[in-house]
Amino acid sequence: MAIASSLWRRLVALYSRTNLGQRDQSNTDARVPNSNELLRLPDGRSGSTQVIGLAAVERFVVPRAAVNDVHEHLAEVGRSGYEGLGLWVGTVAAEIATVERALIPQQRLIRSAAGVGVHVDGTELHRINMWLFDNGLRILAQIHSHPSDAYHSDTDDEYALATAVGSLSLVVPDFATGPTDLSQTAVYRLDKAGKWMAVSQETVNRLIEIVD
Ligand SMILES: [Zn+2]
Repeated sequence: MAIASSLWRRLVALYSRTNLGQRDQSNTDARVPNSNELLRLPDGRSGSTQVIGLAAVERFVVPRAAVNDVHEHLAEVGRSGYEGLGLWVGTVAAEIATVERALIPQQRLIRSAAGVGVHVDGTELHRINMWLFDNGLRILAQIHSHPSDAYHSDTDDEYALATAVGSLSLVVPDFATGPTDLSQTAVYRLDKAGKWMAVSQETVNRLIEIVD
């Protein structure tokens, strides 16, 4: 399992690993052309990039718009039979992680005999990391869809884009055809040993607060 613990380690790693996030190298069937998405920057907060782990975070506060933005993307690619991927990015202060917005990385949607997958290449990851650094934000959670059951596969473990201890990974079932519903979403959290651990529904209810 290759999980770096900080943005900088990620940046360094990107130069040597170009297949981060790749589930399948055989086919590239579709592409999401959303290259402008990341360029629409929020106000230029720059500077402080204190690397504070997410391990101590007891609550993730998530604007409904960020939830909906990712869900709409997952549903849209799902209608064509593809998995999709989105991120919640924001800040951490003490025990509270505050999501500022969603990011939809440029991604290759993959379908092959082995199944479906989604790939974010190293160039895009580099661009995301630079953008996050410039804006004083970090990846708090990754969200991706599955054709049917929601669970963290071995590939999901290995190629997670969220790499900080305490990060969340959400898996949305049924190509996100349903409404946004955390009770139907599998939620995992990266522990100190680098393992993605399932979070119980009871804990999810405490951990993730969606705000309007
Ligand atoms: Zn998966």
